[in-house]
Amino acid sequence: MSEKRAAAAPHAPKLPPAKLFIGGQWAEPEGGKTFATENPATEATICEVASGSPADVDRAVEAAQAALDGGWGETSARDRGRILWNVADALEARIDEFALVETLDNGKPIFESRYVDVPAGIAALRYYAGWADKIHGDTFPVEGPFVFAYTLREPMGVVGAITPWNFPIIQALWKIAAALACGNTVVHKPASYTPLTALKFAELACEAGLPAGALNVLPGGGSAVGGAMVGHPDIAKISFTGSTEVGQTIMKQAADTVKRVTLELGGKSPNIVFADGDIEAAVKGAYNGIFYGKGEVCAAGSRLFVERSVHDQLLEKLIDRTERLQPGDPLHPKTRMGALVSSSQRDTVMGYVDIGKNEGAEVATGGTTADVDGKGYFMRPTILTGVDNSMRVAQEEIFGPVLVAIPFDEPEEAVQLANASIYGLAAGVWTRDVGKAHKVAAQLQAGTVWINQYNWYDSGAPFGGYKQSGFGRELGRAAIEHYTETKTVFVGT
Ligand code: NAP
Ligand code: MG
Repeated sequence: MSEKRAAAAPHAPKLPPAKLFIGGQWAEPEGGKTFATENPATEATICEVASGSPADVDRAVEAAQAALDGGWGETSARDRGRILWNVADALEARIDEFALVETLDNGKPIFESRYVDVPAGIAALRYYAGWADKIHGDTFPVEGPFVFAYTLREPMGVVGAITPWNFPIIQALWKIAAALACGNTVVHKPASYTPLTALKFAELACEAGLPAGALNVLPGGGSAVGGAMVGHPDIAKISFTGSTEVGQTIMKQAADTVKRVTLELGGKSPNIVFADGDIEAAVKGAYNGIFYGKGEVCAAGSRLFVERSVHDQLLEKLIDRTERLQPGDPLHPKTRMGALVSSSQRDTVMGYVDIGKNEGAEVATGGTTADVDGKGYFMRPTILTGVDNSMRVAQEEIFGPVLVAIPFDEPEEAVQLANASIYGLAAGVWTRDVGKAHKVAAQLQAGTVWINQYNWYDSGAPFGGYKQSGFGRELGRAAIEHYTETKTVFVGT
């Protein structure tokens, strides 16, 4: 271990046992199978994790159904809010421990886990704690003498949450907090690369007062556990965040039981800089837009469109800034670029650099792996220039720290290029002309548009995709609609 790593070495983290979390307790997986979860910065195994099976999904759904009929189902809306708030407090009290485990499992800088990921999870819990007793139906006039009609917003039942590895605790809590606030119970399958914080969270939530069975966590294979959840007749809804490919499979499979689905899928988000924008701010926004979170961010600003008159100037500044971003030990507090999540993810991302070169793109900076004490899946932040929007590197989601830069001449051309994508998750616009900003924001096919900023999220603001980036929304009041059914009641005389 180098001095730099040694200086940053933390106390031993508290890891979950190699068990599933079902009905408020640790449970052996049927068949007793486990798998190892790895620290991508050191290539060392962190610990063994239980591997769930379809039979375990049955047990978890039974526990979740029992909680719906009893414990959580009988908790008043106000008490649901109180419990979620207590869970948030409990997580906040252990924020350093959760941040450490998130960084070990995912490879992201401890700075991000400690100051963004876990706090964002806590914020979602508090936001939905506030909603729990404010979810209600309407009354409205209807035809007929003395006929009275009203709506109820009821929980859907058992919700299946399936999450990816890039923001493990955030993605889990966006779903869990909203689903529980609405009175549902949850069976959660975390990603196999990063199952640890979800398991720890389930135990913490129960200790903080969440009734047994309201939240069950089953790590395990994508189709063995995730597929069994999607096919399960007693799961009312699947909330999925992950790749468009798996989202398509889930949507087809969900048709068999007419399951409700929310799909938060991939992206190839455009970040458009006009010549009348604040160029220094745009450089920073372009840099954070693609390199924050190692570029393993669904909404990453991975296509940079720059008005030709400022293109070279902006690229020069951006490249200079990018070359100062050194991948390093994720546990070091000053590190801002960690390790990609796995060896295969780094191979995929590096493969795209070669694809780009073969298509005629130039590597303006980066394009190689990075050595951090001889271990781990690090790569240098990369910018490709000489790119045409039709190239694979401009159309396919790379999901790593690789930016493609494309010049444009007219605002209409920028919008047309930005929308020429199967995806529509997010977009950025940089201009000082407020009229242009609003017009372009209206024209972009994206679920979120950032004007003169990038990568801003808030528990109160809905997030989700247009086109093949999915449908349904997380966060805000929008998510409440996706975790409740509307029942209309007519009362005669
Ligand atoms: P993924 O391969 O689609 O996996 C996502 C989750 O689905 C994992 O828990 C995975 O389990 C599970 N899964 C795999 N196959 C399944 C199946 N047949 N049925 C049910 N579940 C299945 O995606 P990923 O590689 O983890 O994450 C990266 C992708 O997520 C990117 O495309 C990114 O854009 C997207 N993403 C989108 C958002 C958003 O909000 N729109 C946010 C973050 C990430 P295993 O881990 O066991 O394979
Ligand atoms: Mg891991």
